Order: sequence, then structure tokens, then C-alpha cells
Amino acid sequence: MKKNQFKSLKQDIKSFLKKDIYGLEKKVFNNGWHASLNDLEKTRDKVKSLGYWIPQIPKKYGGMGLNLIEFGQLSAILGASPIGLYLFNCQAPDAGNMEVLIEFGTTYQKDTFLKPLLAGKIRSCFSMTEPTFAGSNPVYMGTTAVKKDNSYILNGNKWFTSSAEGASFAIVMAITNPDVENKYLRASQIIVPCNSKGFQLVRKIPVMGDKGEGYFSHSEIKYNNVKVLTKNLIGEEGSGFRIAQSRLGHGRVHHCMRWIGICERSFNMMCERAAKRELTPGKFLGEKQLIQKMIAERRAEINAAKLMVLDTANKIDKFGSKDSKIEISIIKFYCANVLKRVVDDAVQIHGGLGMSDDIILSHFYRHERAARIYDGADEVHISSVAKGILSNYGLKI
Ligand SMILES: Cc1cc2nc3c(=O)[nH]c(=O)nc-3n(C[C@H](O)[C@H](O)[C@H](O)COP(=O)(O)OP(=O)(O)OC[C@H]3O[C@@H](n4cnc5c(N)ncnc54)[C@H](O)[C@@H]3O)c2cc1C
Repeated sequence: MKKNQFKSLKQDIKSFLKKDIYGLEKKVFNNGWHASLNDLEKTRDKVKSLGYWIPQIPKKYGGMGLNLIEFGQLSAILGASPIGLYLFNCQAPDAGNMEVLIEFGTTYQKDTFLKPLLAGKIRSCFSMTEPTFAGSNPVYMGTTAVKKDNSYILNGNKWFTSSAEGASFAIVMAITNPDVENKYLRASQIIVPCNSKGFQLVRKIPVMGDKGEGYFSHSEIKYNNVKVLTKNLIGEEGSGFRIAQSRLGHGRVHHCMRWIGICERSFNMMCERAAKRELTPGKFLGEKQLIQKMIAERRAEINAAKLMVLDTANKIDKFGSKDSKIEISIIKFYCANVLKRVVDDAVQIHGGLGMSDDIILSHFYRHERAARIYDGADEVHISSVAKGILSNYGLKI
């Protein structure tokens, strides 16, 4: 997209956020996800009519065809509201599932699952992590998919399957080839319709006291002899990790830029509060040097994080995810920690109000702590960055 055109698009979307999204966000949090579906749909229709629908998707699939660096900047605007990306149909986990189906899906899979997903008629989820196996070791899992005639029979227990409640299908990571020597070639990604017999949503997992609803929930799921046709296998048998790897670069840039949106909104709130909260008549919180330190340091970190992510997106656009591995890991742990500090300081500056659910900060605090855990815990990324760097110095770990 041309520079000027993109600049005005960003401006338009910022105005849309203020005019159409923040008010709706309040409604969703007051009334719940299910009770807000009609309002959410109406706003999605408006997004479609304005031509902003699925901005990250190529034009031939009905999207805006933005590249990663452009979409990243949009994510940073929309991410300021928990419903922002959803309204444009570019929210996780659907955005990742769309990418996978576009790249690896068969005609049948595109017609049956991708098309309604792109149209916003259905939602989906991604089911990989299991309660009894360390998610940080992705080759370690108990869920199996055994081939029988033209079907797979799935058995296993997953949890933290985000947005499963109300989703139409799950992409499930399951072991199909347990005897293959290379442990990275044992698992496959299989599409499981959520109305399949044996698909059991056991519970919504409360996250720091909040079970959530619909899109805003994380579920434990049991796959009890779930039978799906072999045509629901994505790619080849044993290619589950290769497919997962292929989506990680984009997925991490999407998350990081969304977090930057949260940082900007929280930062703005903390500055407003510091400038307006009187400690004594005529004396404002922001006059205190300890508060100024928070403001200056957090601003510097947000600026650094933003530039780092855009630089990584640029590298991925030019050279692909494989050659950007170190940068992708660096932005993942760096941004997650900037997010943690910004939201924490914003809560601190708001005092008791910051802990209340009267303002959005408590939602961010509760739900975004997980940023340091999902998509690879901090420690995993930190180790892999150090290993990658040291290997250039001849130390193979
Ligand atoms: C809100 C939320 C949403 C999620 N959504 C999804 C989803 O949609 N689909 C899905 O499949 N999963 C999802 N997950 C699961 C997430 O991907 C896993 O929690 C994550 O991969 C970590 O796995 P684990 O919880 O089993 O922790 P473990 O692997 O047991 O790790 C626990 C801790 O050990 C430490 N650790 C791990 N490895 C190392 C290491 N090599 N060196 C040093 N320390 C280490 C880290 O501090 C880590 O946090 C979600 C999780 C959360 C919290």
C-alpha cells in the first residue's frame, strides 16, 4: 500500500476505535460476550462495508492484502481494545488458523472451514497444550490420532484451548506417527469440528478469577474417540510441527504489536491520571519524581519495543521467519516484559481504582500476564536467543 494511503488508513482506524469500539467494549464487559453478539456483528458489518475486513489476508481471499509490517501497525492500533482485532476478523487464534489453511489447506478444507472463517460466520480454536505434559516441550504430548480406514480416531486431553466455547472447529495437534525416529515428525494437525461426537468441553478455566465467555475464554477439552475423516488432516502426516513453525513468526509479530496497543492505551491512562490527580489542592501526582521516573522509563521501553517489532516484521517480510528466528524470540520476551511493566505501573498510578473493574486496566493485568507464558515462555526464548548467538562464536549447546 502507498505510504500516504497507509497513513490515512491508520488515521481512519484510530478514529473508528474511538468512535465505534471503546463504547462497545464497555457493553461487552458489562453484559458479557454472548449478550453482546448482535452488537458485535453490527460493528463487524460496518468494518466490512468500510473495506477494512481481514486486513492481514491476501486480496484474492477477500482481505486487504497488507504486508506484515503494515498489519503490525494496524494491530498496535486495534490491540488497544480487547475487541479491536476481533471486529476486523484478524484476532488470534483465527488469524493463525486462516494462515495455515490458506498455505496448507486442500480445496475441501478451504471450502468447508476457511471460507466461513474468512467471512466471519464462524470462529475456530487451536488445541495443542495438555495439562499433564510440559507445553514448553512441543514434541511431548499424549493426544493420539489413530488411522482407521478413511478416518482418524482422536483421544486426548487438552487445555487452555483459547476461544473454544462457541468455536466451530479446532485444529488439534495429535501424534499420528509415534514410531518415527525423528520426534519432530510424529505429530499432525487435524481439523476437528466442535460438534463431533466425543468432543467434550470439560470446563472453562478461570484465569485469575475470570472464566470468561465465548471468544474470551480458555477451555479444557477431552477428545474421547473422536472420529474425523482423513481429509481433515492438514498437510502431510507428521508435518504438524513444520506447519506450527511456519505460523510462529507472523503470530508473534501479531501478538507483540497487539501488546504495544495495550501499552499505549495503559500509558496514556497513566499519564492522564498523573497529570490530573491532585495529591493536595493544586499539587498533582505527576509532579512527584518517582512517578516521572515510571513515565519516562515506560515511554522509552514502549518506543524501543515498537521499533524492534517493526524491524523484525520487516526482516520477516524480506527474508522469511526461518532467517529471523533470533529476532522473533527477542521481540517475544522483550515485549511481553515491557507489557507487564507498563500495565503494572498504570495500575499503580491509579491506586485503588487501578485494581477495580471500573476501568480496563484490571482486565489487562489479569489477562495479559499470560503473555510471558504462551507462544513460548520467556525462559525458552531467552535460552534460544543465547544459544543462537553463541553458536556464531563456535559454542554449540
Ligand atoms: C491465557 C493462555 C492462553 C493459551 N492459549 C492456548 C491455545 O489457544 N492453544 C494451546 O494449545 N495452548 C494455549 N496456551 C498454553 C500455552 O501455550 C502453554 O501454557 C505454554 O506453552 C507453556 O506450557 P505449560 O503451561 O505446560 O508450562 P511448562 O512447559 O510446564 O513450563 C512452566 C514454566 O517452566 C519454565 N520453563 C519451561 N521451559 C523452560 C526452559 N527450557 N528453561 C527454563 N525454564 C523453562 C517457564 O517459566 C514456564 O513458564 C495458553 C496459555 C495461556 C496461559
